[in-house]
Amino acid sequence: MPGGVNSPVRAFRSVGRTPFFVEKAKGAYLYDADGNRYLDYVCSWGPGILGHAVPSVVEAVQKACENGLTFGAPTEKEVELAQLIQSCVPSMEMMRLVNSGTEAVMSAVRAARGFTGREKIIKFTGCYHGHSDGLLVKAGSGLLTGSVPDSAGVPAGYAAATLLAEYNDIESVRRLLEENEGQVACIVVEPVAANMGVVPPEEGFLAVLREAADASGALLIFDEVITGFRLGLGGAQGYYGVTPDLSTFGKIVGGGMPLAAYGGRRDVMSCVAPCGAVYQAGTLSGNPIAVTAGTEMLKLLIAHPEIYAQIDQSAARLEEAYRETGLTVNRVGSLLSPFFTREKVRDYQSVMTSDTAAFARYFGWMLEKGIYVAPSQFEAMFVSAAHSAEMIDMTCDMVKEYGKSGM
Ligand code: PLP
Repeated sequence: MPGGVNSPVRAFRSVGRTPFFVEKAKGAYLYDADGNRYLDYVCSWGPGILGHAVPSVVEAVQKACENGLTFGAPTEKEVELAQLIQSCVPSMEMMRLVNSGTEAVMSAVRAARGFTGREKIIKFTGCYHGHSDGLLVKAGSGLLTGSVPDSAGVPAGYAAATLLAEYNDIESVRRLLEENEGQVACIVVEPVAANMGVVPPEEGFLAVLREAADASGALLIFDEVITGFRLGLGGAQGYYGVTPDLSTFGKIVGGGMPLAAYGGRRDVMSCVAPCGAVYQAGTLSGNPIAVTAGTEMLKLLIAHPEIYAQIDQSAARLEEAYRETGLTVNRVGSLLSPFFTREKVRDYQSVMTSDTAAFARYFGWMLEKGIYVAPSQFEAMFVSAAHSAEMIDMTCDMVKEYGKSGM
C-alpha cells in the first residue's frame, strides 16, 4: 500500500511519525495493536458523533447481516433512510444513496452540469470535496497536508473547468461569475470549511453566495459531508438558514459504514437516470448493511437532539483551553481547530500562516499523553457525545500543560 495506508493522511507523514495499527474502538477510545489506549478526537474523520461501536447500531447491523449483505435491488430500508434524511433536511426533495462522499459530490456536480447545460464550476481554495478529478484543484485535507493541492494525473481540461474562488471572499465569486457569464453550472462549497482546519463562514457569506448563484443561474451545492448531522439535525443549512439547490452528505449519515447521499431540488434530481440523461449508478449503492447503520444512527440523533448542546459545550471548553495557550482557535459547534498562528484565520491565506512544525510537535506530545488528534494542521478536531465531562477536563488540562511546556 502506498505509504502503508489506504488514505494518505493516515500515514502520519506530515507529523513525522509512524501510525499505530488500530485493533478496536469503543466509545471515545481507540485501542492500538501495541496495547495503547487513545482518547480519540478524530472519530474516523467525523462519522463517530456518538463515539465508536454504538451498541444499538452494532446490534442492528448484526441482525441485518443475517438477511444478506447485498442485493443490488431496491429495499424498504433505503426508503426509510431517505425519509429520515428528508425529515431533517427538507431541501432533500429527491436523493440518491451512494457509497462515499467523493461519489456524492462528483454526482451532484454532474447533475448540476446536466441540469444547467453548463460546464464550469466554482470551488473554493482549501475546500475538499473528495478525490474526483475536477475537484482536486487547490484542495484541502490530505492534499494540503501533503503539500500537493493539485493532484498529478488530472487532465488539464478537467482542471480548467474548475474555477477557484477564495473562501469568505464574495468578490472573488462575483468576479468569476461575471467573467464566465452563462457558463457556470454550480458553486460548490463546504458551508463550514473544515478541510483546511475549521474556517467558519463569515456573517452573510453563505446568504450572498445564494444570491450570487441565483443571479447567475448557477446552482448552489452545499457539501455537507462533514457538517451534515454534526451541526444539528438540519446540517449547516439549518444552522445558518441558507438553503442550497443540492446537498451532499456522508460520514455520520452512514453510521460508520460506507454510505453517502446527494440530492436536493426535485427538478434537478429528475435529470438523474433513469428519469433523465445524467448517468450515475452503483453496484453497492444503498447497501442494506450500510443503510441499516445509517438509519439507526439517524434515529438515535433524532431521539436525542440534546447531544448537540452537549458536544457544543464540550467543544467550547476545549476551545477555551486552546485559547489560553495563545493559539488561534476556530470552532463551529463540535468542530474545532487550534491553529499554530497568532493571525485570525478566515481563509486559505491565513490558514497557511500556521507553523506546521509546531503542530507536529504538539501532535506527538498529545499522542504520548494518550490523546489522538488529527495528524494534520489542516483537519478538524471532532468531539463526540462519548467524550465525557471528565475526558474533556483531562484534555483541557493536557492542552494547558502543553501550552506551558513552551514547545
Ligand atoms: N466532502 C467533504 C467536505 C469531505 O470532508 C470529504 C472527506 O473527508 C469528502 C467530501 C469525501 O468523502 P469520502 O472520503 O467519503 O470520499
